[in-house]
Amino acid sequence: MIQFQALAQTYGTPLYVYDFDAMKEQFEALKVAFRGRKSILAYAVKANSNLSVIKHFAAQGSGADCVSIGEVRRALTAGVPKYRVIFSGVGKRDDEIREAIEHDILYINVESEGELGRVETIAKELNVKARISIRVNPNIDPKTHPYISTGLHDNKFGVEIDAAKRMYIHAKNSENLDAVGIHFHIGSQLTDLEPIYEAAVIVADLLRSLQAIDIELKFFDIGGGLGVRYDNETTITPYDYAQAILGALKGIDVTIICEPGRFLTANAGYFLTKVLYEKQNGTKRFVVVDGAMNDLIRPSLYNAYHRIEAIGKTSDMTPVDVVGPVCESGDFLAKNYPLPAMEHNDLLVVHSAGAYGFGMGSNYNTRGRCAEIAVENGEARIIRARETFDDLIALEREYL
Ligand SMILES: *Cc1c(COP(=O)(O)O)cnc(C)c1O
Repeated sequence: MIQFQALAQTYGTPLYVYDFDAMKEQFEALKVAFRGRKSILAYAVKANSNLSVIKHFAAQGSGADCVSIGEVRRALTAGVPKYRVIFSGVGKRDDEIREAIEHDILYINVESEGELGRVETIAKELNVKARISIRVNPNIDPKTHPYISTGLHDNKFGVEIDAAKRMYIHAKNSENLDAVGIHFHIGSQLTDLEPIYEAAVIVADLLRSLQAIDIELKFFDIGGGLGVRYDNETTITPYDYAQAILGALKGIDVTIICEPGRFLTANAGYFLTKVLYEKQNGTKRFVVVDGAMNDLIRPSLYNAYHRIEAIGKTSDMTPVDVVGPVCESGDFLAKNYPLPAMEHNDLLVVHSAGAYGFGMGSNYNTRGRCAEIAVENGEARIIRARETFDDLIALEREYL
């Protein structure tokens, strides 16, 4: 049991708290599901990019899936071995590509013919062979929120099957490209196994047709996207997930790369916020708290549901909008959420906040970002200090 009240007292609010033991359990569960096959779990750093979190997974043998050169640097800084670092993303700059090649990471996930050309040119300048994988867009509807669907032709990600084939043939004939993998990632918060299986079958078929023309790939990169329970969703078990992938891969000997983000961190994280005021506008009840959309934007951005717990409160529940101090009507953590009567300084714990929480934070309204706390074996420690006013203005010029 995490002592939320004590943590809020010691470190102040708003505050992010991560249960490192729970993160470890999630990692183990997925690792065990792929047991007996060559596999690498490459933690998707964007879900929660705190260095201590990355380091925690690296200590369990994790790799890292990165979507900017900043994330690649984070992964290497946190101790992820370069041979387990992957660089994905739809819009890589030349300088990012160059640096990734210089770091000699496992591979770059290429998302367009234009990008393949840039990687080849830069590798030629550096006089090396760049390892690449190609992200295929299998045109599968993942049945998730449209903002986190990525595997449809309507989405900006990846290339069509035919383009991918052309690109692999081009790479095979290139002095400066070494195609080692194939990649797909159809969306996030996936709770339905069927689309994942269908995508895996499509991409595995492409892999077979490449083998037929003597293009051998080592890595089958299935992306991330495994959903978690925020409310009462039925989720995919790691076992069923792995079985579906292995089913699609029948007869193919490849190393499976899986890039879980949310699955590893979401339910291990808590967002702690204190009540400032309770108020009533007409018949509408509001609880105003000290945490806001700049700290946790998921409710505002995706209408995401987060379970909220009122610590130490047992009175009758009535629906309330939990809102923050930011000057936007879209600044809410929950709408029509049943909560007991609240008073100044009561503590609310927002559950499932460990993924796409802190990392999506901003300084809007000149609010410093929260501190982040790790709890491991019953001990708490700060893994990122609260931002101060001086931190917020440090890069600004000409104001004196
Ligand atoms: C975001 C992302 C992931 C992780 O997604 P989750 O839903 O958090 O598991 C994995 N791979 C790629 C390429 C991504 O963009």
